[in-house]
Amino acid sequence: MAPGIFRVMNAPPLPPDPARPASGFVSLVGAGPGDPELITVRARALLARADAVVYDALVNPRIMQNGAVRADAEMHDVGKRGGVPSARQDAINALLVRLAREGKRVVRLKGGDPLVFGRGSEEAQALAQAGVSFEIVPGVTAGVAAPAYAGIPVTHRGVASAVTFITGHEDPTKVDSDVDWASLARAGGTLVLYMGVKRLREIVAALTAGGLSADTPAAVVEWGTWPRQRTVESTLGGIAHAASAAGIAAPSITIVGSVARLRGEIAWFDRRPLSGRRIIVTRARTQASDLATRLTELGADVIEAPAIVIVPADPAPLRDALRHLGEYQWVLFTSQNAVEIAWAALRGAGGDARRFAGVRVGAVGQATARALLDRGIAADVIPPRATAEGLGDALRQRPDVRGTRILFIQADGAGDALPAALRDMDTTMHEIVAYRTVPDASGTNAARDALTANSVDAITFTSASTVRFFLDALGGNAGAVGGARIITMGPRTSDAARMLGLTVHAEAATATIDALVDAVRDVLR
Ligand code: SAH
Repeated sequence: MAPGIFRVMNAPPLPPDPARPASGFVSLVGAGPGDPELITVRARALLARADAVVYDALVNPRIMQNGAVRADAEMHDVGKRGGVPSARQDAINALLVRLAREGKRVVRLKGGDPLVFGRGSEEAQALAQAGVSFEIVPGVTAGVAAPAYAGIPVTHRGVASAVTFITGHEDPTKVDSDVDWASLARAGGTLVLYMGVKRLREIVAALTAGGLSADTPAAVVEWGTWPRQRTVESTLGGIAHAASAAGIAAPSITIVGSVARLRGEIAWFDRRPLSGRRIIVTRARTQASDLATRLTELGADVIEAPAIVIVPADPAPLRDALRHLGEYQWVLFTSQNAVEIAWAALRGAGGDARRFAGVRVGAVGQATARALLDRGIAADVIPPRATAEGLGDALRQRPDVRGTRILFIQADGAGDALPAALRDMDTTMHEIVAYRTVPDASGTNAARDALTANSVDAITFTSASTVRFFLDALGGNAGAVGGARIITMGPRTSDAARMLGLTVHAEAATATIDALVDAVRDVLR
Protein backbone atom coordinates (compact mmCIF):
# COMPACT_ATOMS: atom_id res chain seq x y z
CA MET A 1 0.00 0.00 0.00
CA ALA A 2 2.69 2.42 1.04
CA PRO A 3 4.45 2.60 -2.33
CA GLY A 4 1.09 3.34 -3.99
CA ILE A 5 0.45 6.20 -1.62
CA PHE A 6 3.98 7.39 -2.19
CA ARG A 7 3.43 7.46 -5.95
CA VAL A 8 0.16 9.34 -5.71
CA MET A 9 1.65 12.00 -3.46
CA ASN A 10 4.43 12.62 -5.88
CA ALA A 11 2.31 12.66 -9.00
CA PRO A 12 2.65 15.91 -10.94
CA PRO A 13 -0.50 18.05 -10.95
CA LEU A 14 -2.90 17.15 -13.74
CA PRO A 15 -2.68 19.49 -16.73
CA PRO A 16 -5.87 21.53 -17.18
CA ASP A 17 -8.38 19.67 -19.29
CA PRO A 18 -10.12 22.18 -21.59
CA ALA A 19 -13.05 19.82 -22.07
CA ARG A 20 -13.67 19.71 -18.33
CA PRO A 21 -14.76 22.94 -16.61
CA ALA A 22 -12.26 24.14 -14.03
CA SER A 23 -13.01 23.89 -10.34
CA GLY A 24 -14.59 27.37 -10.20
CA PHE A 25 -17.91 27.74 -8.51
CA VAL A 26 -20.66 30.34 -8.60
CA SER A 27 -22.88 31.18 -5.64
CA LEU A 28 -26.03 33.07 -6.64
CA VAL A 29 -26.56 35.02 -3.45
CA GLY A 30 -29.30 37.29 -2.17
CA ALA A 31 -27.93 40.46 -0.53
CA GLY A 32 -31.22 41.38 1.13
CA PRO A 33 -33.21 44.56 0.59
CA GLY A 34 -30.67 47.20 1.67
CA ASP A 35 -30.14 47.21 5.43
CA PRO A 36 -26.65 45.69 5.51
CA GLU A 37 -27.61 43.57 8.51
CA LEU A 38 -30.37 41.84 6.57
CA ILE A 39 -27.89 39.58 4.83
CA THR A 40 -27.68 35.90 5.64
CA VAL A 41 -24.87 34.32 7.63
CA ARG A 42 -24.12 32.13 4.63
CA ALA A 43 -23.88 35.13 2.29
CA ARG A 44 -21.37 36.77 4.67
CA ALA A 45 -19.25 33.65 4.80
CA LEU A 46 -19.24 33.29 1.01
CA LEU A 47 -18.35 36.96 0.51
CA ALA A 48 -15.45 36.66 2.94
CA ARG A 49 -13.77 33.97 0.85
CA ALA A 50 -14.85 34.97 -2.66
CA ASP A 51 -12.22 35.42 -5.37
CA ALA A 52 -14.65 37.51 -7.41
CA VAL A 53 -17.86 39.37 -6.60
CA VAL A 54 -20.34 40.37 -9.30
CA TYR A 55 -22.94 42.74 -7.87
CA ASP A 56 -25.99 44.78 -8.86
CA ALA A 57 -26.99 48.41 -8.46
CA LEU A 58 -29.43 47.75 -5.61
CA VAL A 59 -26.87 45.97 -3.44
CA ASN A 60 -25.94 48.25 -0.56
CA PRO A 61 -22.18 48.92 -0.98
CA ARG A 62 -21.78 48.74 2.79
CA ILE A 63 -22.28 45.00 2.58
CA MET A 64 -18.95 44.77 0.76
CA GLN A 65 -16.99 47.23 2.93
CA ASN A 66 -14.97 47.05 6.13
CA GLY A 67 -13.20 43.83 5.35
CA ALA A 68 -16.34 41.90 4.36
CA VAL A 69 -14.65 41.04 1.07
CA ARG A 70 -10.98 40.10 0.65
CA ALA A 71 -8.87 43.06 -0.40
CA ASP A 72 -7.61 41.13 -3.44
CA ALA A 73 -11.04 39.98 -4.63
CA GLU A 74 -12.07 41.04 -8.14
CA MET A 75 -15.06 43.37 -7.95
CA HIS A 76 -17.47 43.61 -10.90
CA ASP A 77 -20.23 46.22 -10.78
CA VAL A 78 -22.81 45.11 -13.31
CA GLY A 79 -25.52 47.41 -11.97
CA LYS A 80 -28.28 47.84 -14.47
CA ARG A 81 -29.89 51.23 -14.24
CA GLY A 82 -33.09 52.05 -16.04
CA GLY A 83 -34.50 49.88 -18.81
CA VAL A 84 -31.33 48.38 -20.20
CA PRO A 85 -31.61 45.86 -23.05
CA SER A 86 -31.35 42.20 -22.16
CA ALA A 87 -28.07 41.89 -24.06
CA ARG A 88 -26.55 43.05 -20.78
CA GLN A 89 -27.89 39.91 -19.15
CA ASP A 90 -26.00 37.81 -21.70
CA ALA A 91 -22.84 39.71 -20.85
CA ILE A 92 -23.38 39.01 -17.14
CA ASN A 93 -23.97 35.33 -17.83
CA ALA A 94 -20.80 35.19 -19.91
CA LEU A 95 -18.83 36.96 -17.17
CA LEU A 96 -19.98 34.43 -14.56
CA VAL A 97 -19.04 31.52 -16.79
CA ARG A 98 -15.64 33.03 -17.58
CA LEU A 99 -14.77 33.72 -13.93
CA ALA A 100 -15.79 30.19 -12.93
CA ARG A 101 -13.73 28.69 -15.75
CA GLU A 102 -10.75 30.62 -14.43
CA GLY A 103 -11.18 28.47 -11.33
CA LYS A 104 -12.55 31.28 -9.15
CA ARG A 105 -15.02 31.16 -6.30
CA VAL A 106 -17.56 33.64 -7.59
CA VAL A 107 -20.28 35.35 -5.57
CA ARG A 108 -23.05 36.71 -7.75
CA LEU A 109 -24.64 39.17 -5.34
CA LYS A 110 -28.17 40.31 -6.14
CA GLY A 111 -30.56 42.65 -4.34
CA GLY A 112 -33.21 40.97 -2.19
CA ASP A 113 -33.68 37.33 -3.12
CA PRO A 114 -31.88 36.20 -6.27
CA LEU A 115 -34.89 34.36 -7.63
CA VAL A 116 -37.61 36.93 -6.93
CA PHE A 117 -37.83 39.10 -10.05
CA GLY A 118 -34.05 39.03 -10.07
CA ARG A 119 -33.24 36.92 -13.12
CA GLY A 120 -31.15 34.70 -10.88
CA SER A 121 -32.77 31.65 -12.38
CA GLU A 122 -31.72 32.76 -15.87
CA GLU A 123 -28.15 33.00 -14.64
CA ALA A 124 -28.51 29.53 -13.10
CA GLN A 125 -29.73 28.23 -16.46
CA ALA A 126 -26.73 29.75 -18.23
CA LEU A 127 -24.37 28.20 -15.68
CA ALA A 128 -26.05 24.81 -15.97
CA GLN A 129 -25.76 24.97 -19.74
CA ALA A 130 -22.09 25.87 -19.50
CA GLY A 131 -21.47 23.00 -17.08
CA VAL A 132 -20.43 25.36 -14.27
CA SER A 133 -21.25 24.24 -10.73
CA PHE A 134 -23.36 26.64 -8.72
CA GLU A 135 -25.55 27.02 -5.68
CA ILE A 136 -28.39 29.37 -4.77
CA VAL A 137 -28.45 31.28 -1.48
CA PRO A 138 -31.84 32.90 -0.84
CA GLY A 139 -32.10 36.42 0.51
CA VAL A 140 -34.66 38.59 2.24
CA THR A 141 -36.84 39.91 -0.54
CA ALA A 142 -37.88 43.59 -0.69
CA GLY A 143 -41.53 42.66 -1.09
CA VAL A 144 -41.60 41.29 2.44
CA ALA A 145 -38.89 43.41 4.08
CA ALA A 146 -39.92 46.88 2.88
CA PRO A 147 -43.51 46.42 4.15
CA ALA A 148 -42.17 44.97 7.43
CA TYR A 149 -39.98 48.04 7.99
CA ALA A 150 -43.01 50.19 7.22
CA GLY A 151 -45.10 48.35 9.81
CA ILE A 152 -47.17 46.47 7.22
CA PRO A 153 -47.43 42.67 7.51
CA VAL A 154 -48.04 41.00 4.14
CA THR A 155 -50.41 38.57 5.89
CA HIS A 156 -52.43 39.06 9.07
CA ARG A 157 -54.84 36.62 10.68
CA GLY A 158 -58.37 37.55 9.77
CA VAL A 159 -57.24 40.28 7.38
CA ALA A 160 -55.18 38.64 4.64
CA SER A 161 -54.39 34.97 4.29
CA ALA A 162 -52.85 35.17 0.85
CA VAL A 163 -50.23 37.40 -0.75
CA THR A 164 -49.38 37.84 -4.41
CA PHE A 165 -46.03 39.18 -5.59
CA ILE A 166 -46.34 40.97 -8.92
CA THR A 167 -43.91 42.76 -11.16
CA GLY A 168 -44.69 45.39 -13.73
CA HIS A 169 -42.40 46.81 -16.40
CA GLU A 170 -40.83 50.14 -15.51
CA ASP A 171 -41.39 51.11 -19.14
CA PRO A 172 -44.82 52.79 -19.14
CA THR A 173 -45.24 52.20 -22.85
CA LYS A 174 -45.20 48.43 -22.47
CA VAL A 175 -48.36 46.50 -21.77
CA ASP A 176 -48.04 43.77 -19.15
CA SER A 177 -49.87 41.16 -21.11
CA ASP A 178 -48.56 38.50 -18.74
CA VAL A 179 -50.26 40.03 -15.69
CA ASP A 180 -54.00 39.38 -15.42
CA TRP A 181 -54.95 42.44 -13.36
CA ALA A 182 -58.66 41.60 -13.38
CA SER A 183 -58.15 38.23 -11.76
CA LEU A 184 -55.72 39.78 -9.26
CA ALA A 185 -58.44 42.29 -8.39
CA ARG A 186 -60.77 39.40 -7.56
CA ALA A 187 -58.19 37.21 -5.80
CA GLY A 188 -58.37 38.94 -2.43
CA GLY A 189 -55.40 38.93 -0.05
CA THR A 190 -52.47 41.29 -0.28
CA LEU A 191 -50.92 42.50 -3.53
CA VAL A 192 -47.24 43.38 -3.45
CA LEU A 193 -46.03 45.23 -6.55
CA TYR A 194 -42.36 45.35 -7.48
CA MET A 195 -41.19 47.94 -10.04
CA GLY A 196 -44.60 49.49 -10.27
CA VAL A 197 -43.97 53.09 -9.32
CA LYS A 198 -43.93 54.72 -12.74
CA ARG A 199 -46.97 52.78 -13.83
CA LEU A 200 -48.93 53.09 -10.61
CA ARG A 201 -51.75 55.09 -12.20
CA GLU A 202 -52.21 52.52 -14.93
CA ILE A 203 -52.06 49.58 -12.51
CA VAL A 204 -54.60 51.22 -10.21
CA ALA A 205 -56.92 51.71 -13.19
CA ALA A 206 -56.57 48.05 -14.19
CA LEU A 207 -57.25 46.85 -10.64
CA THR A 208 -60.27 49.09 -10.09
CA ALA A 209 -61.62 48.16 -13.54
CA GLY A 210 -61.26 44.55 -12.41
CA GLY A 211 -63.50 45.27 -9.43
CA LEU A 212 -61.10 46.09 -6.58
CA SER A 213 -62.56 48.88 -4.43
CA ALA A 214 -60.86 52.25 -4.77
CA ASP A 215 -61.09 52.46 -0.97
CA THR A 216 -58.76 49.50 -0.47
CA PRO A 217 -55.86 50.65 1.74
CA ALA A 218 -52.56 51.02 -0.10
CA ALA A 219 -49.02 52.14 0.65
CA VAL A 220 -45.79 52.74 -1.23
CA VAL A 221 -42.44 52.13 0.45
CA GLU A 222 -39.45 53.77 -1.21
CA TRP A 223 -35.89 52.56 -0.41
CA GLY A 224 -37.31 50.03 2.05
CA THR A 225 -34.97 49.12 4.96
CA TRP A 226 -32.45 51.81 3.91
CA PRO A 227 -32.03 54.77 6.28
CA ARG A 228 -33.72 56.95 3.66
CA GLN A 229 -36.86 54.75 3.64
CA ARG A 230 -40.08 56.71 3.07
CA THR A 231 -43.64 55.47 3.17
CA VAL A 232 -46.73 57.03 1.64
CA GLU A 233 -50.16 55.78 2.71
CA SER A 234 -53.45 56.25 0.92
CA THR A 235 -56.20 54.23 -0.69
CA LEU A 236 -55.94 52.41 -3.98
CA GLY A 237 -57.76 55.34 -5.58
CA GLY A 238 -55.42 57.94 -4.07
CA ILE A 239 -52.06 56.19 -3.95
CA ALA A 240 -50.76 57.17 -7.39
CA HIS A 241 -51.36 60.84 -6.72
CA ALA A 242 -50.01 60.64 -3.16
CA ALA A 243 -46.83 58.92 -4.35
CA SER A 244 -46.13 61.40 -7.12
CA ALA A 245 -46.93 64.34 -4.85
CA ALA A 246 -44.32 63.02 -2.41
CA GLY A 247 -41.82 62.57 -5.24
CA ILE A 248 -41.55 58.81 -4.68
CA ALA A 249 -39.22 57.11 -7.16
CA ALA A 250 -37.57 53.72 -7.64
CA PRO A 251 -36.84 51.50 -5.88
CA SER A 252 -40.21 51.16 -4.30
CA ILE A 253 -42.71 48.52 -3.36
CA THR A 254 -46.44 49.10 -3.46
CA ILE A 255 -48.72 47.20 -1.10
CA VAL A 256 -52.45 46.98 -1.81
CA GLY A 257 -54.77 45.44 0.76
CA SER A 258 -56.30 45.88 4.19
CA VAL A 259 -52.99 44.99 5.85
CA ALA A 260 -51.73 48.47 4.89
CA ARG A 261 -53.98 49.88 7.60
CA LEU A 262 -52.01 48.06 10.32
CA ARG A 263 -49.20 50.53 9.81
CA GLY A 264 -51.10 53.00 11.97
CA GLU A 265 -50.62 50.61 14.88
CA ILE A 266 -47.28 48.91 14.28
CA ALA A 267 -45.10 51.36 12.37
CA TRP A 268 -41.73 51.40 14.14
CA PHE A 269 -38.90 52.22 11.74
CA ASP A 270 -39.91 55.84 11.24
CA ARG A 271 -40.78 56.31 14.90
CA ARG A 272 -37.31 55.74 16.34
CA PRO A 273 -35.66 58.65 18.17
CA LEU A 274 -33.41 59.67 15.27
CA SER A 275 -35.54 58.52 12.32
CA GLY A 276 -35.22 60.83 9.36
CA ARG A 277 -32.13 62.54 10.80
CA ARG A 278 -28.94 62.64 8.81
CA ILE A 279 -25.73 62.75 10.81
CA ILE A 280 -22.12 62.98 9.69
CA VAL A 281 -19.81 60.99 11.92
CA THR A 282 -16.18 62.00 11.61
CA ARG A 283 -13.98 59.37 13.06
CA ALA A 284 -10.69 57.74 12.25
CA ARG A 285 -11.05 54.89 9.83
CA THR A 286 -9.29 52.36 12.01
CA GLN A 287 -11.43 53.09 15.04
CA ALA A 288 -14.38 50.80 15.47
CA SER A 289 -17.39 52.66 14.13
CA ASP A 290 -19.50 51.87 17.16
CA LEU A 291 -20.73 55.46 17.21
CA ALA A 292 -22.10 55.06 13.69
CA THR A 293 -23.72 51.76 14.65
CA ARG A 294 -25.37 53.25 17.72
CA LEU A 295 -26.77 56.21 15.82
CA THR A 296 -27.98 53.97 12.99
CA GLU A 297 -29.82 51.76 15.46
CA LEU A 298 -31.59 54.84 16.77
CA GLY A 299 -32.81 55.48 13.24
CA ALA A 300 -30.32 58.02 11.91
CA ASP A 301 -29.00 58.05 8.36
CA VAL A 302 -25.31 58.09 9.17
CA ILE A 303 -22.69 59.31 6.74
CA GLU A 304 -19.31 58.12 7.86
CA ALA A 305 -16.64 60.61 6.97
CA PRO A 306 -13.36 59.25 8.17
CA ALA A 307 -11.53 62.54 8.25
CA ILE A 308 -8.31 60.99 9.44
CA VAL A 309 -6.40 57.79 9.10
CA ILE A 310 -4.09 56.45 11.76
CA VAL A 311 -0.57 55.72 10.61
CA PRO A 312 1.53 53.77 13.11
CA ALA A 313 4.97 55.27 13.71
CA ASP A 314 8.23 53.34 13.52
CA PRO A 315 7.61 50.52 16.02
CA ALA A 316 11.27 50.09 17.06
CA PRO A 317 11.40 52.63 19.93
CA LEU A 318 8.06 51.42 21.24
CA ARG A 319 9.12 47.79 21.13
CA ASP A 320 12.34 48.68 22.86
CA ALA A 321 10.57 50.55 25.64
CA LEU A 322 8.07 47.72 26.13
CA ARG A 323 10.90 45.22 26.40
CA HIS A 324 12.17 47.24 29.36
CA LEU A 325 8.79 47.91 30.96
CA GLY A 326 10.13 46.82 34.36
CA GLU A 327 12.26 49.98 34.43
CA TYR A 328 9.18 52.19 34.59
CA GLN A 329 6.81 52.76 37.49
CA TRP A 330 4.08 54.24 35.28
CA VAL A 331 2.81 53.72 31.74
CA LEU A 332 0.36 56.32 30.40
CA PHE A 333 -1.89 55.99 27.37
CA THR A 334 -3.74 58.92 25.80
CA SER A 335 -6.02 57.01 23.45
CA GLN A 336 -7.45 53.71 22.38
CA ASN A 337 -5.19 53.86 19.31
CA ALA A 338 -2.13 54.18 21.52
CA VAL A 339 -3.24 51.08 23.43
CA GLU A 340 -3.92 49.10 20.27
CA ILE A 341 -0.59 49.99 18.69
CA ALA A 342 1.38 49.36 21.89
CA TRP A 343 -0.35 46.02 22.32
CA ALA A 344 0.50 45.01 18.75
CA ALA A 345 4.13 45.94 19.39
CA LEU A 346 4.13 43.98 22.65
CA ARG A 347 2.66 40.88 21.01
CA GLY A 348 5.02 41.29 18.07
CA ALA A 349 7.88 41.01 20.55
CA GLY A 350 6.33 37.91 22.11
CA GLY A 351 5.06 39.68 25.24
CA ASP A 352 1.66 39.91 26.87
CA ALA A 353 -0.17 41.50 29.83
CA ARG A 354 2.24 39.93 32.34
CA ARG A 355 4.85 42.49 31.32
CA PHE A 356 2.70 45.08 33.09
CA ALA A 357 3.08 43.31 36.44
CA GLY A 358 4.17 45.88 39.01
CA VAL A 359 3.72 48.81 36.63
CA ARG A 360 0.96 51.35 37.30
CA VAL A 361 -1.15 52.42 34.37
CA GLY A 362 -2.94 55.67 33.55
CA ALA A 363 -5.49 56.14 30.75
CA VAL A 364 -7.16 59.20 29.25
CA GLY A 365 -10.83 58.39 28.69
CA GLN A 366 -13.08 55.43 29.27
CA ALA A 367 -12.54 54.00 25.78
CA THR A 368 -8.79 53.92 26.43
CA ALA A 369 -9.37 52.25 29.81
CA ARG A 370 -11.70 49.71 28.19
CA ALA A 371 -9.16 48.91 25.48
CA LEU A 372 -6.66 48.17 28.26
CA LEU A 373 -9.12 46.09 30.25
CA ASP A 374 -9.94 44.06 27.14
CA ARG A 375 -6.29 43.05 27.21
CA GLY A 376 -6.26 42.15 30.89
CA ILE A 377 -4.90 45.45 32.24
CA ALA A 378 -7.01 47.53 34.63
CA ALA A 379 -5.97 51.20 34.60
CA ASP A 380 -5.00 52.62 38.01
CA VAL A 381 -5.83 56.19 37.05
CA ILE A 382 -8.65 57.36 34.75
CA PRO A 383 -9.01 61.10 35.25
CA PRO A 384 -12.52 62.56 35.47
CA ARG A 385 -11.48 65.03 32.76
CA ALA A 386 -10.56 62.96 29.71
CA THR A 387 -7.64 65.09 28.58
CA ALA A 388 -3.89 64.86 28.93
CA GLU A 389 -4.07 67.81 31.37
CA GLY A 390 -6.73 65.94 33.30
CA LEU A 391 -4.43 62.95 33.61
CA GLY A 392 -1.58 65.22 34.70
CA ASP A 393 -3.78 66.76 37.42
CA ALA A 394 -4.93 63.35 38.63
CA LEU A 395 -1.34 62.11 38.81
CA ARG A 396 -0.24 65.17 40.78
CA GLN A 397 -2.74 64.24 43.49
CA ARG A 398 -1.17 60.84 44.01
CA PRO A 399 1.57 60.04 46.50
CA ASP A 400 3.24 57.50 44.21
CA VAL A 401 4.21 59.65 41.25
CA ARG A 402 7.00 61.89 42.50
CA GLY A 403 10.42 60.79 41.36
CA THR A 404 9.17 57.95 39.18
CA ARG A 405 10.09 56.91 35.66
CA ILE A 406 7.13 57.29 33.33
CA LEU A 407 6.54 55.84 29.88
CA PHE A 408 4.10 58.02 27.95
CA ILE A 409 2.58 56.53 24.78
CA GLN A 410 0.76 59.02 22.62
CA ALA A 411 0.06 60.44 19.17
CA ASP A 412 2.39 62.69 17.24
CA GLY A 413 1.56 66.33 17.83
CA ALA A 414 -0.41 65.60 20.99
CA GLY A 415 1.15 68.58 22.73
CA ASP A 416 3.13 68.69 25.96
CA ALA A 417 0.33 69.34 28.45
CA LEU A 418 1.06 66.19 30.41
CA PRO A 419 4.82 66.60 30.72
CA ALA A 420 4.18 70.24 31.66
CA ALA A 421 1.75 69.22 34.39
CA LEU A 422 4.36 66.95 35.97
CA ARG A 423 7.39 69.20 35.42
CA ASP A 424 8.02 69.93 39.10
CA MET A 425 7.38 66.35 40.21
CA ASP A 426 10.93 65.23 39.63
CA THR A 427 9.77 62.52 37.23
CA THR A 428 11.65 61.12 34.26
CA MET A 429 9.32 61.03 31.31
CA HIS A 430 10.02 58.90 28.29
CA GLU A 431 7.66 59.99 25.52
CA ILE A 432 6.99 57.65 22.64
CA VAL A 433 5.05 58.59 19.53
CA ALA A 434 2.99 55.51 18.64
CA TYR A 435 1.16 56.91 15.64
CA ARG A 436 0.37 59.90 13.52
CA THR A 437 -3.04 61.00 12.30
CA VAL A 438 -3.14 62.16 8.70
CA PRO A 439 -6.02 63.64 6.74
CA ASP A 440 -8.12 61.34 4.61
CA ALA A 441 -10.03 63.45 2.12
CA SER A 442 -11.33 60.42 0.23
CA GLY A 443 -13.91 59.71 2.89
CA THR A 444 -15.38 63.19 2.93
CA ASN A 445 -16.99 63.28 -0.52
CA ALA A 446 -20.35 61.88 0.57
CA ALA A 447 -20.36 64.25 3.54
CA ARG A 448 -19.56 67.25 1.35
CA ASP A 449 -22.36 66.36 -1.07
CA ALA A 450 -24.87 66.03 1.76
CA LEU A 451 -23.76 69.38 3.24
CA THR A 452 -24.07 71.05 -0.13
CA ALA A 453 -27.62 69.70 -0.37
CA ASN A 454 -28.20 71.15 3.10
CA SER A 455 -29.58 67.82 4.26
CA VAL A 456 -27.38 67.26 7.31
CA ASP A 457 -28.86 67.62 10.80
CA ALA A 458 -25.70 67.13 12.84
CA ILE A 459 -21.97 66.48 12.70
CA THR A 460 -20.11 64.71 15.48
CA PHE A 461 -16.44 65.27 16.24
CA THR A 462 -14.51 63.00 18.57
CA SER A 463 -11.17 64.81 18.63
CA ALA A 464 -9.54 68.12 17.85
CA SER A 465 -7.74 66.57 14.90
CA THR A 466 -10.96 65.30 13.32
CA VAL A 467 -12.31 68.88 13.40
CA ARG A 468 -9.18 70.22 11.74
CA PHE A 469 -8.98 67.54 9.08
CA PHE A 470 -12.70 67.59 8.31
CA LEU A 471 -12.69 71.36 7.81
CA ASP A 472 -9.54 71.09 5.69
CA ALA A 473 -11.37 68.62 3.48
CA LEU A 474 -14.18 71.18 3.12
CA GLY A 475 -11.66 73.71 1.90
CA GLY A 476 -11.20 75.28 5.32
CA ASN A 477 -14.60 76.87 5.15
CA ALA A 478 -16.58 76.66 8.41
CA GLY A 479 -19.61 78.09 6.60
CA ALA A 480 -19.77 74.88 4.55
CA VAL A 481 -21.38 73.04 7.45
CA GLY A 482 -24.49 75.19 6.96
CA GLY A 483 -27.23 74.56 9.47
CA ALA A 484 -25.82 71.27 10.75
CA ARG A 485 -25.51 71.10 14.54
CA ILE A 486 -22.03 70.49 15.88
CA ILE A 487 -21.67 67.97 18.70
CA THR A 488 -18.32 67.14 20.23
CA MET A 489 -16.74 64.56 22.48
CA GLY A 490 -15.28 67.03 24.97
CA PRO A 491 -13.85 70.43 25.85
CA ARG A 492 -10.65 70.12 23.79
CA THR A 493 -12.59 69.14 20.71
CA SER A 494 -15.05 72.00 21.30
CA ASP A 495 -12.19 74.48 21.66
CA ALA A 496 -10.71 73.31 18.38
CA ALA A 497 -14.10 73.60 16.69
CA ARG A 498 -14.70 77.14 18.00
CA MET A 499 -11.23 78.22 17.06
CA LEU A 500 -11.98 77.16 13.50
CA GLY A 501 -15.16 79.20 13.41
CA LEU A 502 -17.78 76.56 14.21
CA THR A 503 -20.61 76.97 16.67
CA VAL A 504 -20.70 74.07 19.10
CA HIS A 505 -24.26 73.06 19.95
CA ALA A 506 -23.52 70.33 22.46
CA GLU A 507 -20.70 68.47 24.13
CA ALA A 508 -20.71 64.94 25.53
CA ALA A 509 -20.99 65.04 29.33
CA THR A 510 -18.15 62.53 29.59
CA ALA A 511 -15.71 61.41 26.91
CA THR A 512 -17.66 58.27 26.04
CA ILE A 513 -19.64 57.11 23.03
CA ASP A 514 -22.72 56.73 25.28
CA ALA A 515 -22.51 60.35 26.36
CA LEU A 516 -21.94 61.53 22.80
CA VAL A 517 -25.01 59.60 21.63
CA ASP A 518 -27.04 61.17 24.47
CA ALA A 519 -25.86 64.61 23.41
CA VAL A 520 -26.93 63.95 19.81
CA ARG A 521 -30.36 62.78 21.00
CA ASP A 522 -30.77 65.88 23.15
CA VAL A 523 -29.87 68.26 20.36
CA LEU A 524 -32.00 66.59 17.70
CA ARG A 525 -34.98 65.80 19.90
N1 SAH B 1 -34.65 40.39 -6.27
C1 SAH B 1 -35.17 41.59 -5.67
C2 SAH B 1 -36.10 42.34 -6.58
C3 SAH B 1 -35.46 42.80 -7.84
S1 SAH B 1 -36.56 43.68 -8.89
C4 SAH B 1 -35.82 41.23 -4.34
O1 SAH B 1 -36.03 40.07 -4.04
O2 SAH B 1 -36.13 42.15 -3.58
C5 SAH B 1 -36.20 45.34 -8.42
C6 SAH B 1 -37.39 45.93 -7.76
O3 SAH B 1 -37.48 45.46 -6.44
C7 SAH B 1 -37.34 47.43 -7.62
O4 SAH B 1 -37.77 48.09 -8.78
C8 SAH B 1 -38.28 47.66 -6.48
O5 SAH B 1 -39.63 47.59 -6.89
C9 SAH B 1 -38.00 46.47 -5.65
N2 SAH B 1 -37.04 46.78 -4.58
C10 SAH B 1 -35.82 46.27 -4.43
N3 SAH B 1 -35.24 46.77 -3.31
C11 SAH B 1 -36.14 47.59 -2.75
C12 SAH B 1 -36.16 48.37 -1.57
N4 SAH B 1 -35.12 48.41 -0.74
N5 SAH B 1 -37.27 49.09 -1.29
C13 SAH B 1 -38.33 49.06 -2.11
N6 SAH B 1 -38.36 48.34 -3.24
C14 SAH B 1 -37.30 47.60 -3.56
